[in-house]
Amino acid sequence: MNRDKSTFLIILQLLIITSLVIMDLVNQPQGIFRGVLFTMLFVITGILLFMRFQFITKLKGIVVELKRAIHGNFNTRLLANDDHILAEVIFSINELIEQLDKFQVQTIKSEAVRKSLLSNISHDIRTPLTSIIGYVDALKDDIAASEEEKQEYLAIISKKANSLKQLIDEIFHMAKLDADEVPLKEESLDFAEIARESLIEFLPVLKKYDIELKVRIPEENCLIMADRLSLLRIIRNIINNAVHYGREGKVLGIELTETAREYQLLVWDRGPGISKVNLSRVFERMYRSDQSRNPLNGGSGLGLAIAKALVEKNRGRIWVESIPWEKTTFGFSIPKHNE
Ligand code: ATP
Ligand code: MG
Repeated sequence: MNRDKSTFLIILQLLIITSLVIMDLVNQPQGIFRGVLFTMLFVITGILLFMRFQFITKLKGIVVELKRAIHGNFNTRLLANDDHILAEVIFSINELIEQLDKFQVQTIKSEAVRKSLLSNISHDIRTPLTSIIGYVDALKDDIAASEEEKQEYLAIISKKANSLKQLIDEIFHMAKLDADEVPLKEESLDFAEIARESLIEFLPVLKKYDIELKVRIPEENCLIMADRLSLLRIIRNIINNAVHYGREGKVLGIELTETAREYQLLVWDRGPGISKVNLSRVFERMYRSDQSRNPLNGGSGLGLAIAKALVEKNRGRIWVESIPWEKTTFGFSIPKHNE
């Protein structure tokens, strides 16, 4: 609006100047009309000067608010005014500040996640390492009374060192997944065969804990296009958890079902399960429920985070449902491959 007003005034100014020049050229005698034109010219120039002053004041206001935003105060917003061009600029700047605000909130969140991950990782590395050092020192100082005791210390050292290596391998694998450095070799696979193959390595441990196995895997081919190693790893992580955390339920179920577009592998147990508050968090990195934090339970809390990343890389979904002591099911899907 203001801009239109000033354009109108400038055109009027030009018209007046042109009239005065023409009057001069045709040698018109000085008269009232000439006086009126000069007065108008004077007034218009005054108005234009005033408008320019107003415009500069508004611009200075915008710069002040912008500087506030630059210095990190993303709560600031510029007020729109009656100049429609300035209003558009203000609207865009406000949008930009809002985006920056969102970005800052996200950065703060991921920074907090990074810090807690780091502190979990250092805790998980320091704890077994401290105990390894303790046992090595004890052996060095000949604290162990008998040969039997020495062998016991060595067995503990070996167990702790192995779980430490496993943790470091998992952290390394997760980092590679993050950096997108895990090459996937997609090929046409029979999901049913992969599921059966994965089960075999668990048969001894199922026998050891006297866990009944309930399998429902179709005989016919269930074709998918996926990376074989990813699938084996996902299934191993989920079955491992079912045996580890659900063995008191004494049953392990594996089912391969299909929908119109995908195959779904469900692994269930009848163990203590996962409470509602923890359900949404089990796929987070380093997340372990309070009971699982017990050092005897081992786990690094990365197994499901890795499984989730691998499922998603293979264009699938992963989920969990749990009714404690009734049924806890981890399921994941992979799209069908139609030849
Ligand atoms: P690891 O990296 O060695 O697998 P982890 O088993 O602790 O360590 P995840 O596999 O990611 O880590 O599992 C995260 C947590 O989810 C577990 O610590 C456990 O508390 C819970 N959880 C997973 N599966 C089950 C299950 N079948 N029943 C009960 N709790 C489970
Ligand atoms: Mg696990």
